[in-house]
Formats: sequence, structure tokens, C-alpha cells
Amino acid sequence: MTNVNETGGLFNRLRRGLAKTRDLLTTDLDELFTRKKQIDDDLLEDLEEILITSDIGVQTAMDLIERVSGKTSTIDNAATLKTVLKDEILSSLQERQTRPAEITTKPHVIMVIGVNGVGKTTTIGKLAAKYSAVGKKVLIAAADTFRAAAIEQLAIWAERAGADFVKHKDGADPAAVAFDGIEAARARGADVVLVDTAGRLHTKVNLMEELKKIKRSVSKKLPDAPHEILLVLDATTGQNALSQAKMFDEALKITGIALTKLDGTAKGGIVVSIYNSLNVPLRYVGVGENIEDLQDFEPRQFVDALF
Ligand code: GDP
Ligand code: MG
Repeated sequence: MTNVNETGGLFNRLRRGLAKTRDLLTTDLDELFTRKKQIDDDLLEDLEEILITSDIGVQTAMDLIERVSGKTSTIDNAATLKTVLKDEILSSLQERQTRPAEITTKPHVIMVIGVNGVGKTTTIGKLAAKYSAVGKKVLIAAADTFRAAAIEQLAIWAERAGADFVKHKDGADPAAVAFDGIEAARARGADVVLVDTAGRLHTKVNLMEELKKIKRSVSKKLPDAPHEILLVLDATTGQNALSQAKMFDEALKITGIALTKLDGTAKGGIVVSIYNSLNVPLRYVGVGENIEDLQDFEPRQFVDALF
């Protein structure tokens, strides 16, 4: 389990990651009130623009404005406006359950999907370490067989995390690797299986078919699996992440999201946008490249880092 220092460190990293968004929100919100002492339609329009610039999404920005405009009589300075926004964002984030799915079966199978470079392999390494740290026996299946280097990279993560590793040669059938992974997990008594997958988007149709085939192959070996289909999204890609999510959800019905690279140049509004646009819980946020840089998504911590 993480201790207080680690938690504090991760919070600071999240804060640093969101610095750009925070600057934008804070500075621009302050500016709104240097010209006016009261909220009117012009100010609300400017506010909407600021929110959209933070990657919060047009619809979400409009919803927030709607909520804020119901409270205009109590808002006459930037600090109050920030508090109101913070509360509104927090309550919209808290409307839905986000906690990681409980592990109720053994093995619990998590299939990790997403386009190339979003951080699937890294997130698997971090997740494996998280589960190992609480005494779960973890097995990782290397079903991204596209390049030998990808299998190698995953093997290194498995070793770091103290997880078992199942692989075939590069070029092998990913569904067969997943199938073997489940079999090995049952034979060895693993608690959690993490299945890595490829994400080459230039073969979009083939990719979706390949992922469906992996999913079917997992279910064949273990009927209620995969228990989680975790979509990894790169926060720095902004609204593009949303269209990826819709695409993967249509093909595979995702059950959870991990949002990576919130420590980078990401605009934090994307978290709110994802939340409001997709009916899928945001389970994890990635805040760096190291093994400990994955946090359970906590709405309160997030808005505290944002404002
Ligand atoms: P994959 O193609 O989806 O498997 O992506 P990888 O796991 O190989 O990651 C692609 C790159 O993103 C690597 O350089 C990772 O170190 C980096 N990365 C992954 N997650 C994070 C994160 O939360 N923060 C930062 N800064 N980099 C990340
Ligand atoms: Mg990978």
C-alpha cells in the first residue's frame, strides 16, 4: 500500500501535471472580474470559452455554465466563482462510481486496449506492481505480438513488478497467447491476469477484429472473462481521446478507462469531458513513466489539483 509520503508525492505530481490548466483557469478567471464586478451574459460567454480551452468539451462547458448561471446572484468575485466551479465539477465527477472493479473471481482477467503509444504496456506494468504490492499473484500475457521489442518491453515490466509472464514468438496469434495466459494463470493459481494488446490504428478494422478475437478466446477459456476491458487513453491528445473511446467502445464494450500522461502537457479538462461524455468509469490516472506513477482516480484529489 502507498504510504503518506508517496501519496503526497503523487498528488504533487498530479498538481504539477495540471499546472497549465490551473494557470489557465486561475489567471483567466481572475481577469474576468477585473473588467466586471458582476456576472452577466458576456462574462458567462467568456467563461464558457475558458472552459472549452481547458479541453473540458463544448457540451460539458455548456452544462457547467448552465449550473453556474443558476447561482449568479451569489457570485461577485473570482474566488467565489472558482469555488462554485470546483463544487460543480466535483459533484458531476462524484455522480458516478469510479473505484477499480472488485476482484471477486480467480483469476480476474483485465484486457488492456488502446491505440499505439497511449501507454498500455506501461500501465500494465504499473497495475501489476499495484496488485503485487497487496499480495496478489499476477500474470501478464503478451498478446501484442506485432514486434519482438514489444514483448521484450513487457517482459521487463513483468520482472520489475514481480509478475509471471506468458509469451509466444513475435508474429504469433494474439488470441492464442491470451488463451495460454488464462490456462497458465489457472494452473499456477494467479489472482490477476493482465492481457497486453497491439494498437496499430492504420489497420483499424483488423485491429478491432483482432481484439474481438482475443476477447472471444479469453471467454472460451473462462466464460465470465474478461472481467474488465480497460481502455487506455493519452490525456495529451485532448478531444481525440474521446473519439478513440467511442470507437473502441462500439467494437468491444469497454468497462473502464485509464488516462495516462496527466503529468505532461495534458489539459486537465479532458478528465471532466471523458467523464461526462462516456458512460464508463475513469479508474486510473497515469502521472509519470515510473512504476509507482499510477493512481486510482479520486475526484476530490483531482479538483484540488485543478484549482
Ligand atoms: P503502448 O504503445 O500503448 O503500449 O504505450 P507504452 O506503454 O509503450 O508507452 C508509450 C510511451 O508513453 C512510453 O514512452 C511511456 O513511458 C510513456 N508513458 C506511459 N504512461 C505515461 C504517463 O502516465 N506519463 C508519462 N509522462 N509518460 C507515460
Ligand atoms: Mg505496448
